[in-house]
Amino acid sequence: MNDKKITGVVVDSGHGGSDPGAISGNLQEKDFTLEAANYMAKRLQELGIPVVSIKTTDEDISRTERLRRANEAFNGDPNAILISNHINSGGGEGQSVTK
Ligand SMILES: [Zn+2]
Repeated sequence: MNDKKITGVVVDSGHGGSDPGAISGNLQEKDFTLEAANYMAKRLQELGIPVVSIKTTDEDISRTERLRRANEAFNGDPNAILISNHINSGGGEGQSVTK
């Protein structure tokens, strides 16, 4: 069993800028992931949990830049976790967790 404590949470909002993610009518995934990520970061802060957001606006960032920010968020601390918000459009149900 891993009894290491989580030192912080990196919150990511999937897509953004010129990358809308999934689209349905006039709904774009990036708008939902940004709202979810900003709410998540706010709640974690309110609970006293160290949190760093990859981005807080509808920013167009490359995969490389996203990963750079994630890795630098807690100076590469392996006990920090990353939550990347996505609202998938495919089938299935529940949550998907990628480690
Ligand atoms: Zn997505």
